[in-house]
Amino acid sequence: MDYNTEVISSAAIQIAEMFKSIVMSQQQGRQGVYTIAQIETSMREALRQIGLQALGQFLSAMQTTPDREIACACGGVLHYQRMREELIISVFGKTSYRRAYYAGCSCQQGKSPLDEQFGLEPGGVTAGLAQLLALAGIEFSYDQSPKWLQAYLLFEVSENTVRSETERMGALQEKQEEALIQCSQDETYLQERQRRPGQVVTRLYGSMDAAKVRIEPRPKKGQSPEEHEDWRDMKVLCWFETESVPPAQRSARQRTQAERQQVALRAKNLRYCCNITEADDFGQLLWATGCSLKADLSPELIFLGDGAIWIWNLVTKYYPNAIQIVDWYHAEEHLEIVASAAFPQGPDRSNWLEGVKQALWDGQVEQVISACEALAASCDLARKAVHYFYTHAERMRYDHFRAAGYMIGSGTVESGCKQIVTQRLKLPGAQWTVLGAVQTAKARAAWLSGHWQSLCDQRSALPLAI
Ligand SMILES: [Zn+2]
Repeated sequence: MDYNTEVISSAAIQIAEMFKSIVMSQQQGRQGVYTIAQIETSMREALRQIGLQALGQFLSAMQTTPDREIACACGGVLHYQRMREELIISVFGKTSYRRAYYAGCSCQQGKSPLDEQFGLEPGGVTAGLAQLLALAGIEFSYDQSPKWLQAYLLFEVSENTVRSETERMGALQEKQEEALIQCSQDETYLQERQRRPGQVVTRLYGSMDAAKVRIEPRPKKGQSPEEHEDWRDMKVLCWFETESVPPAQRSARQRTQAERQQVALRAKNLRYCCNITEADDFGQLLWATGCSLKADLSPELIFLGDGAIWIWNLVTKYYPNAIQIVDWYHAEEHLEIVASAAFPQGPDRSNWLEGVKQALWDGQVEQVISACEALAASCDLARKAVHYFYTHAERMRYDHFRAAGYMIGSGTVESGCKQIVTQRLKLPGAQWTVLGAVQTAKARAAWLSGHWQSLCDQRSALPLAI
């Protein structure tokens, strides 16, 4: 938006003069000197007041002389009632404006064309403020958010307002996902895609994991909170691509990785989605988001995960041709667990461990299975490990995967789980309903996926309650 710099300059001169005279008279009164921080804060407050007035006056000025009658959405006629004063909460705080209000249609609905034009909800939050509130809401707990917002915005916003605007962003994300799901089940769309695939990522990764969320809805009268407590799995999916990390930028872990594998990979273009739902339902999201990225058309599609069976069932169902890899670190950890259970601390343990780890690294899963089998009679965990390595043997051909240059660790989605679930949903004071947890997590996932602006645009375009 271009604005007239002369108007801005002349307003700035007046503000500067006003502050100069305040500060000078303070100094003359020998009451001490204002610090720059005090001046900045009160200048910010003054500018906020200007914003409040300017926005209210602008909106009122946009109200043209009202027509006597206008068309109603139902096909009927609305009659001009009166100019009505309304309040909205904008980035500057609570501001009032005047606009024409129409009613009297047989459908009983009233409306204000000015509100429609700017997506205003009288008494509610503007889209400009909503995106800032939601940004606080995805980062801080809802009871802490108002404190941070007060510092940045210089006015008070309630915890509930932050919560509802954040959840609304999550609801918008959910709506986009639902649209993708519908699209991905449409045969014509799928055929058209296959005929004209356009650009396809040549090597695409998908990864899934889950993290526990404590659901604890506010107790109803007469019920104790314990009766409501319940742990649910938040399933997280991450789509990404990889690139090699230049030597100078490698972390300690990446340097070790480079020594062993001759290459250090990192994830890029990460896109997350999440939900608290059954695996079948999550599968629809897996398929739909994959369709939007043309995962099914990608010449190399690679899935990484731990041993959770729901993950591999979904991958096999929706992407039967994908390469399946069990996260190296999970597999290695299984061997460590067996070693500590089967051997006392000492050279026997470390010799055994060294041998099986090397075999696993070389993709010799059968050798690993035999080594665990040899311990199975006297060690329960070794018996379980036999089952684990047997089930996932084809997903552990690490020699092949390394030779192909694939990433073999699922750290990307695990870090996603941490960022989406642990760092926000497990903050102290967090109290979640399933819907609240899902919508907050979806909003956060959108932010982490670089998808935020698209939600903000939608929030501006959708003034009325969704
Ligand atoms: Zn009507």
